[in-house]
Amino acid sequence: MANLSGITKFLKKNRIVLVSVLVFALAFCCIFAFAGNDSDVEEIAPSEESSLNESLEGSIEESLEEPTVSEEGKLYGNGLYIDGCFIAAVDSEYEATSAINEILSIRVSSLGITEAEEVYFNNNVEIVYGEYPEEAFTDSEGLASLLGKKSPTYVARYVYDYNRVVAPVTLSVCSVETYSETITLEYESKTIYTDALRDGATKVVTKGYNGEGKQTYRVVSVDGVKSETNVVSLDVITAPTVEVVQVGTRSNGKNVASLGTFQKPYDGRITSYVGPRWGRTHNGIDIVAHDGGCKGDPAVAAADGVVIRADWYGGYGNCVIIDHGNGIQTLYAHFTKLSVKVGDVVKAGDEVGKIGSTGNSTGPHLHFEVHVDGEIVNPLLFVDYE
Ligand SMILES: [Zn+2]
Repeated sequence: MANLSGITKFLKKNRIVLVSVLVFALAFCCIFAFAGNDSDVEEIAPSEESSLNESLEGSIEESLEEPTVSEEGKLYGNGLYIDGCFIAAVDSEYEATSAINEILSIRVSSLGITEAEEVYFNNNVEIVYGEYPEEAFTDSEGLASLLGKKSPTYVARYVYDYNRVVAPVTLSVCSVETYSETITLEYESKTIYTDALRDGATKVVTKGYNGEGKQTYRVVSVDGVKSETNVVSLDVITAPTVEVVQVGTRSNGKNVASLGTFQKPYDGRITSYVGPRWGRTHNGIDIVAHDGGCKGDPAVAAADGVVIRADWYGGYGNCVIIDHGNGIQTLYAHFTKLSVKVGDVVKAGDEVGKIGSTGNSTGPHLHFEVHVDGEIVNPLLFVDYE
């Protein structure tokens, strides 16, 4: 209670403490009023009163601690920090924000930004209430001047702190604009495999049409230079339609699916497919070992059947043909040695010959054909080589 001048000085600066002191004073009065007028209360009052007094004294001491340790020449106010750098203090938060907003609006108009939906400083701008040196205090206009304001239409690049020392900060302006454009929404294509068409044929069942959409972008610019563009929404104006394409799987009137799958006559890699080759049509697939060397390896029957040919057959060299019934035959060519004879009944996977390079062949490989009703079909419709 000794430092009365200290309290007065402090109370001038701090309304919160003033209120709390008033509350305590009120509490005091009530206690004394009760103690004086009511005997029932009087009996229990002393202990309560003393504990209240103790806590009251403690609270006051606590409350008074701040102003007494407060350094001389400091005042409470709102300090402006930019990117962590203290610039100056003003009495009210309003003064700080109006200085900031003024600088921002001058910067924005000098950058020629007119369409922006949002503008803000690309800096960490903080207003912190606290104690600041008296000399750090200025007013709204003074703060604007420290932030570079030279005239109502011009702001310099440098920012000064209250000591008129150039602060290590550069204010830059972020502006956000949105714009929309019409874009094409491309149609998707869906494939349906069907036996209604012959192998490989295609037919567009439903034509696909592109759609149209309105795409909206959000563009963020820093000091008028685009730094980021993001798509924020897409409104479909007309939706694209799905194109449906049928792809044929039928071979010579036979339903491929009903023919079942074959086993690989030799597990290797394909070096040549069915189709035109060297001015002629290649009627089968050529298979070699994955590492290329396949000479003498066994080739096997692709499905159950009866051997109807097992001999030299012109350009095929040593050749085996197996009839599987249902009009389907498989042909294996260029063997160095045959492992079956005509009339043999084979199971899928039974060896039919040793791979070689006999006949019209440039090197050891298995040539494999599939015939349906005497017509060449693509063996890959029956056997799966990945
Ligand atoms: Zn071949």
